[in-house]
Amino acid sequence: MARHVIVLIPGDGIGPEVTAAARRVIDAAGKTSALEFEWVSMPAGEAAIKTDGDTLPEKTLEAVVRHKVGLKGPVGTPIGKGFRSVNVTLRKKLELYAAVRPVRSMPNVKTRYENVDIVIFRENTEGLYTGIENEIAPGVVTSLKVATEKACDRISRAAFRYANRRGRKKVTVFHKANIMKITDGLFLKCAKRVWEEEYPNIQYEELIIDNGCMQLVRDPTRFDVLLMENLYGDLISDLCAGLVGGLGVVPGANIGDTAAVFEAVHGTAPDIAGKGLANPLACVMSGVMMLNHMFDTTHDEGCHKAAEKIKNAYNTVLSEGKHLTRDLGGTAGTEEFTEALLEKVG
Ligand code: NAD
Repeated sequence: MARHVIVLIPGDGIGPEVTAAARRVIDAAGKTSALEFEWVSMPAGEAAIKTDGDTLPEKTLEAVVRHKVGLKGPVGTPIGKGFRSVNVTLRKKLELYAAVRPVRSMPNVKTRYENVDIVIFRENTEGLYTGIENEIAPGVVTSLKVATEKACDRISRAAFRYANRRGRKKVTVFHKANIMKITDGLFLKCAKRVWEEEYPNIQYEELIIDNGCMQLVRDPTRFDVLLMENLYGDLISDLCAGLVGGLGVVPGANIGDTAAVFEAVHGTAPDIAGKGLANPLACVMSGVMMLNHMFDTTHDEGCHKAAEKIKNAYNTVLSEGKHLTRDLGGTAGTEEFTEALLEKVG
């Protein structure tokens, strides 16, 4: 039986509820795939202020560095109290440069669109998120957009590598290089070079982002993998989440060369926290991404097998429609939905 260590960061609000549910489902799928998981639970967020006096204790960072993968619940950051943002600090300290968000139409989740299956690769470390802003004259302020060849190259390579491994056909780059000729120009140059030199087997497309947005809402099924810099990726990721039903069904990952942290897109949902009502699906789906990532990095077939089992389980539970949570139009709570998944995982 193969053994893998996963850092579990329960977080705040509904975080402990949804991560506990995901853990049970992953353990069950592991058992039937010759895998055993050791979960190392680490604090972060408001919960960690109480226990460790910091939103992101060093021991949590060290654990992710040591064990390389983490499953994280959402966290709250107290505003205006001098505490650092857990998500930004994790990304920066661990160089988690690729924000990956798959959006896929799910059975029984009704939206305006069908058959959406897009994966967004967002550069996570630079662009307009460097926070370099200045007042250069009274009433005149600037915000500095930074692009480096290193960062543009590695996010492009991550997107093409993913497309290649997962049998995806096309990578589309959204950009505004007609206006930001140098910064977005560099992003395009790097993406095109990685395509030409390393992945000519994948189709490559460049679209000015305003046109890209129009095409996305007209027919999202024409897209496969989307690649873009930080700010565009932030906006397009949420737009795409809306195409498939929003927060409850969208997983996410922040991936670097040496570590990766997986988490649902939704927040701590303080209105339903502790009530047993949270939908754990997005966290479970993030767990599936984690298992697939573990397969990519360790080549342990069991991880892929376990991921497929969980994916089939939630597709079936959603299709049957008997145990849907309230956000998806049902009446089930966290426990009932999790039990339904466990029954299918076997
Ligand atoms: P939210 O995602 O927490 O909640 C928005 C709405 O969606 C609420 O009505 C909530 O009940 C519902 N919802 C969210 N997840 C759900 C789930 N799994 N099942 C059922 N219903 C769900 O967004 P918000 O209210 O804007 O943010 C609340 C807190 O979460 C804030 O402190 C914010 O900073 C934090 N947040 C953290 C992360 C993160 O750590 N990754 C991400 C987003 C927001």
